[in-house]
Amino acid sequence: MKKDHNLAPKKINLLLDKIRSYNPTADTALIERAFIYTKEAHRGQKRLSGEPVFTHALAIANFLADWHLDTASIVAGLLHDVPEDTTKTLVNIEKHFGKEIRDLVDGLTRIKKIKLRGSNSEDFIENLRKMFLAMSRDLRVIIVKLADRYHNMLTLEYLPEEKQIGIAQETLEIFAPLAERLGMGQVKGELEDLAFPYCYPKEYQWLIDYTRPYYKKAEERIKEARRCILKNLAEEGLRVKVKGRVKTLYSLWRKLLRPENDRDINKIHDLVALMVITEKPQECYLALGIIHKVWQLVPYLGVRDWIAQPKPNGYQSIHTNVFWNDGQIIEFKIRTMAMHEQARYGVAAHWYLAEMKSKNKIDSKGIDNGRFFAPDKKMAWVNQLAAWQSEIVDSKEFIDSVKFDALKHRIFVFSPKGDAFDLPEGSTPVDFAYRVHTDLGNQTAGAKVDGRMVGLDYSLHSGEVVEILIDRKRKKPSVDWLDFVVTRLAQRKIRQNAR
Ligand code: MN
Repeated sequence: MKKDHNLAPKKINLLLDKIRSYNPTADTALIERAFIYTKEAHRGQKRLSGEPVFTHALAIANFLADWHLDTASIVAGLLHDVPEDTTKTLVNIEKHFGKEIRDLVDGLTRIKKIKLRGSNSEDFIENLRKMFLAMSRDLRVIIVKLADRYHNMLTLEYLPEEKQIGIAQETLEIFAPLAERLGMGQVKGELEDLAFPYCYPKEYQWLIDYTRPYYKKAEERIKEARRCILKNLAEEGLRVKVKGRVKTLYSLWRKLLRPENDRDINKIHDLVALMVITEKPQECYLALGIIHKVWQLVPYLGVRDWIAQPKPNGYQSIHTNVFWNDGQIIEFKIRTMAMHEQARYGVAAHWYLAEMKSKNKIDSKGIDNGRFFAPDKKMAWVNQLAAWQSEIVDSKEFIDSVKFDALKHRIFVFSPKGDAFDLPEGSTPVDFAYRVHTDLGNQTAGAKVDGRMVGLDYSLHSGEVVEILIDRKRKKPSVDWLDFVVTRLAQRKIRQNAR
């Protein structure tokens, strides 16, 4: 399936218009100055595709505008390759654009040197440390980096073959999971699908051939279901927008590989999903009621209310699966426009709101009534990474922590009070306990999941409520727990405290 990637327009005016449309307070004069500055600095330089280097900078700025970033990020995107590849220095950038933008560009220049491919050389480890340090200082650095990587993936065909695979692998292993952790679902899916054919060419071709008729049918189902749902909701007086999407190729492939699916596409229920987009949050529940009245709920797939309990990355939506008119299963995701934007661009959209707020263009009321999304706290896992990187002295262990704990596929579980925690797949109640607090881990005596007793080695699933039963007299964990815990955090704490 060939995708239409909206390659960025080549003109600065189109970019400025795009930015004004979501952020009227943006400093477009500054952005235009940065564009001219970067064009001058890179004068005469060409990319391997034959295009002038400034087109790369402009493409990145366009993606950042698509993701609703603030002025400083967009300027940093325009300037990101200047200190490394031209005679202009960071000092000169600070002189022209100020300290905030200098720091962003500095962070980008530092993380540029990170190479996952190759061995555990000291350089690699040091750079990975720097990357997480830069991220924990300012998340915008990694978002600009994602835009940079996204454009490089779109133009990967121009690179020599031996470089393509390394870059694609890095994208799949580090950058796509990072995008997911930042709540940037659409970016994650696109990065994966761009990397997929380079990393697994045979499997990609197999999947394309195998799924072609199904994807064709899926597009037709979307059209038909869209019409039908709009009509049914309109009859009840509910005006909504409906968007359809087919599952991205890489995520479909991963799902087909699960043992229970046995490479059989008929076992995949979310090949087609329809997004029902309402104006107000309460209308989401109204829409849900109407959908369940008209089509029968699939009992074993159930309903997930991520509006009442958002995922740790900020994601909100109600998910339900129903038997459609033809007896097949269709997935619905019901959300407001703000939640929809949040699902696509996640934390990225936070900064332009902060920028507008600082210029008194919006107040917290606009945020409270759901017109805008604004995360109320910095994402916990980034702080966690920063804490680890200072805590862990052994470099090998640091790399393993990052790879295994932070970037592996995650499950979401809840405390009895309803606080959400994300953990790697395969986590046990003991991993959960240490994630909440070291003392809780050390005093763990038993665990309940959804109200029933389970063993401490029980494998948790997304959506479960985990209650840890403690023994206050207990001061030490048991070394036997090391046989089943999966997080490096729990392993480390058990080793430290079991003595
Ligand atoms: Mn670049």
